[in-house]
Amino acid sequence: MANILANDGLHPAGLKMLIEAGMKVSTEHIAQEELTTKLLDFDGIVVRSATRVPEELIRACPNLSLIGRAGVGMDNIDVEFAQQSGIKVVNTPGASSQSVAELVFAHMFSMARFLYASNRNMPNQGATDFSALKKSFSKGIELRGKTLGVIGFGRIGQAVARMGLGLGMNVMPFKLYHDEVKIAVDFFKIKEAEITIKVKTDPFEDLLAQSDFITLHVPFPKGAPPVLYKERFGMMKKGVFIINASRGGVVVENDLIEAIDSGQVAAAALDVFEGEPMPSEKVLQHPRISLTPHIGASTVEAQERIGTELAEKIIDHFKTKNA
Ligand code: NAD
Repeated sequence: MANILANDGLHPAGLKMLIEAGMKVSTEHIAQEELTTKLLDFDGIVVRSATRVPEELIRACPNLSLIGRAGVGMDNIDVEFAQQSGIKVVNTPGASSQSVAELVFAHMFSMARFLYASNRNMPNQGATDFSALKKSFSKGIELRGKTLGVIGFGRIGQAVARMGLGLGMNVMPFKLYHDEVKIAVDFFKIKEAEITIKVKTDPFEDLLAQSDFITLHVPFPKGAPPVLYKERFGMMKKGVFIINASRGGVVVENDLIEAIDSGQVAAAALDVFEGEPMPSEKVLQHPRISLTPHIGASTVEAQERIGTELAEKIIDHFKTKNA
């Protein structure tokens, strides 16, 4: 019987599957510094982004046979060393794409109509300065017809594209390896109305120069350079909107703030931050940055899918191992 530590929790549906498969699962959180001794009792560990599984921890736990990441990014796990040590590493890459894409659009609508600023100002000024607020938020824009640059055209980038196409946006994706990607835009319960559109991936410079909105969906492995910085903001259309729901550091925050203050960038939306979980005050207090605390995958639906998908992979691994 495998003994699993779900150190950052796991959705009840996933827990139920593991227990029904005969596994012992502990959801009691063990502090990072105590893991080297306490993880020795377990055959597998499941983490979200809070618990780190570095080389030292893997070396200290020779019984460990599986590391599960409830989510996508594996930057908190030394995947290469784990695999070299014969440990299976699994994650749930597709389970949260729709949720992240919907958060991106929540931010885009919010920026297009000043919702983030309006929500900040109405409680204090709504009763005294209603007309002034109405005037300052009166130059909103529609998303339909605007060009949406998508940097990183994997699972989330394509989910964003699907929604953008459905809204009538001109989707301009950038992929490291240029080619065409087929995107199926499907409608609620009307299968015959499902349409497949070929999206040509564009050169990076064109995307920067032509987009009204730019959203980032790239991985950010240790040592990778940032994707958006001063020179690249300078190559963009004046008044562009930027959304980062990938990883903190992919956009250089100081350069972003400078670009917003100069008017080159109209506004930005950040779900991820440099120095997370302590974003800088400059970012938090900026009047033209729409903020969320890394909640891209935090929906009821995504968390359930993540839990059950991960449970399936864990059960599969121990079945094969014990066969
Ligand atoms: P994916 O692997 O399916 O897609 C990433 C794509 O980016 C790939 O096509 C890859 O070729 C491309 N790419 C890599 N480096 C690039 C670069 N420098 N320029 C352009 N393209 C590049 O990954 P995904 O599932 O779409 O997830 C993307 C990222 O979103 C993840 O790495 C993760 O960090 C982040 N994420 C955030 C949240 C959140 O809560 N905000 C949730 C899930 C995932």
